[in-house]
Amino acid sequence: MADGTETESRKLLGRLREEMASEAAGQERLDRITHLIADSMRCEVCSIYLFRDEETLELCATEGLAAEAVHKTRMRMGEGLVGRVAKYGQVINTADAPSEKGFRYMPETGEERFSSFLGVPIQRLGEKLGVLVVQSREEREFSADEIYALEVVAMVLAEMAELGAFIGEGAALSPLHQHSVVLKGGPAQEGSAEGHVWLHEPRVVVTNPIAEDPQRELERLNEAVEELRVGVDKMLEISQGGDKEHLQVLEAYRMFANSKGWMRRMEEDIARGLSAEAAVEKEQSQARARMSQVSDAYLRDRLADLDDLSNRLLRILTGQGNNTGAELPPDPILIARNIGPGDLLEYGRSLKGIVLEEGSVGSHATIVARALAIPLVVHVDRITTEALNGDHILVDGDHGVVHLRPEESVVGAFRDKIAMQAEAQERYASIRDKPTVTRDGQQIDLVMNAGLMADLPSLPSSGAEGVGLFRTELQFLLQNKMPKRSELVAQYERVLDAAMGKRVVFRTLDIGSDKVLPYMKHVAEPNPALGWRAIRVGLDKKGVMRMQLQALIRAAKGRPLTIMFPFVAQAEEFRAARAEVEKTIAREKRLGHTLPETLEIGAMLETPSLAFAPQKFFEEVDFISIGANDLKQFFFAADRENELVRRRYDTLNVSFLSFIERIVERCAVSDTPLSFCGEDAGRPIEALCLAAMGIRCLSMRPASIGPVKSLLLRSDLGEIRKIIADARHRGDQSVRPAVMDWLRNNG
Ligand code: PEP
Ligand code: MG
Repeated sequence: MADGTETESRKLLGRLREEMASEAAGQERLDRITHLIADSMRCEVCSIYLFRDEETLELCATEGLAAEAVHKTRMRMGEGLVGRVAKYGQVINTADAPSEKGFRYMPETGEERFSSFLGVPIQRLGEKLGVLVVQSREEREFSADEIYALEVVAMVLAEMAELGAFIGEGAALSPLHQHSVVLKGGPAQEGSAEGHVWLHEPRVVVTNPIAEDPQRELERLNEAVEELRVGVDKMLEISQGGDKEHLQVLEAYRMFANSKGWMRRMEEDIARGLSAEAAVEKEQSQARARMSQVSDAYLRDRLADLDDLSNRLLRILTGQGNNTGAELPPDPILIARNIGPGDLLEYGRSLKGIVLEEGSVGSHATIVARALAIPLVVHVDRITTEALNGDHILVDGDHGVVHLRPEESVVGAFRDKIAMQAEAQERYASIRDKPTVTRDGQQIDLVMNAGLMADLPSLPSSGAEGVGLFRTELQFLLQNKMPKRSELVAQYERVLDAAMGKRVVFRTLDIGSDKVLPYMKHVAEPNPALGWRAIRVGLDKKGVMRMQLQALIRAAKGRPLTIMFPFVAQAEEFRAARAEVEKTIAREKRLGHTLPETLEIGAMLETPSLAFAPQKFFEEVDFISIGANDLKQFFFAADRENELVRRRYDTLNVSFLSFIERIVERCAVSDTPLSFCGEDAGRPIEALCLAAMGIRCLSMRPASIGPVKSLLLRSDLGEIRKIIADARHRGDQSVRPAVMDWLRNNG
């Protein structure tokens, strides 16, 4: 770093700091800043272009171009040199702008043919805000230090914009984070919600980007980094012996925290006039920019680690963080990059909606959001940088769309939709206690899926006739250590109490695949969905299975008990599991515990193999439940977690329905009760076709019971069977179009 330019950028930043302290606001402030930069850099022109919307840049202030062009000259992303700086997020430095690729002459600016052009992006933490440009008549290329100085100024401008420094009278600027944005993501839990943004990790606002005393800033940085290192070491110490992946992340944190390159760059930034906070943020911005270009998953993860670490450091430096004392806004909509199930449960039902920048449809957080019936959209790019605490927001969990700071017309339409849904819910309430009998007299049992205590209050209000699937693993997943038997007894007792005599099907621990217990030794598997999971783990590690069975028997305290084993692939597995139940019963009896009044032991049919088990198996099992989330992924060989393929095959595909029908027939031979508990049970058209195929018990999320019942009450299964048969006969791939047509034509 040349000494001369060190003072150059420091001088420029010093003047900028004075400007920030001045009374001027809005447009006047921007104008003065362009003047100041042009003057300091000995250029005829300095201009600030800011984004009007995602695609359009607008000249917002200039020294040297025609004043009339301000707020008139616009360009699209990628258009002209300015547009190219914005698009690629890279500096353009040229002594001969007119012959540069992409140059566009804009006569309205009164732009003489300025030879030299230096444009740098104005961005904050990966969010593109605009472009800062200097131009000069003299043909010269700008030095590396001049570029650096302009980049630092651009960063300070972004910081000032964040603080609202350009909002004011006559500004005619669209201040950042004030315009409406529509963001698209993936639907993970349906429903619509209107509310206000609550950032799970509030962004740290740097109020002092420019240092007054570099020496002091260096000391502050060193102290903060030391505190950070001690913190990371402590986390590592506590986590020893724990989950391997978690340890790897912490190791990466430690590596970055001790990285000489990272420190050196931040020290240089401070020497050039930035405050410690701004130096950290500059590094973080660059890491984010790289993150958006890297496709290698491992590298992206490491850059994300660095991002996390920078946030921690910023919180130490500014004293800001989760405990800012801010209060949850009314109707909070949680915004986060990712969130763990435990954190989510702490918010509980106070949340109206959830939007995640990452997340996935199969993650634990999603399972919890579903259990709590909170609309959730995942994979929403940029949401954590776009949204500010308290912003008005609409979440459409049905289509995976988020409207941030929406226009009035959008709000109106959205509220109409919510009102219609509420009306429908009311209609459903009126049929709540009616038995579900179709027009042709077929009775269908509608029961609900649950997994948390929080689900149980829905049992009476939804009209469910019982719990068809209680996913016991959720309680295990939410804890950071193996629960004790006594805790399980208490939990299951509460579930049975809340069910007030209605049947509850307890599914034994279904872990493995996407559901990994943080406190159990993690086994790396090439294909976890086809791996060591559910009953396979239970039979290999009998201790946990026995503990759970004991807890269930004790919780029943003489009441009827229903147990179901997940992921049974062959009869022998079921037999072994049932033998465990019998052994446990005998042991409990010896110990003097009251035994359940009745005991049913069933199996989940989640692998195609079980559908072809010997008929004897169907006689031995007390009931079967089709777990079609898994069954479907194996039937079509399409990973239920993989966005690229998970929606590729329709449940109403003729082959799949025929397969379901085959299972119905096999159960019918031995009178084995059969239910269906995958997500599809809760979708009215799917539920109707499943009932037409002969399924007489459907287990679904409580909120789905109303819509499913409403359709079943109005339908004739015989007619639907006929439509399906015709579709098969024609050789249709899916029966959906034919069924939809029929429903439309019949009101
Ligand atoms: C299923 O696979 O359909 C099922 C109900 O189980 P889970 O979704 O918990 O795997
Ligand atoms: Mg399953």
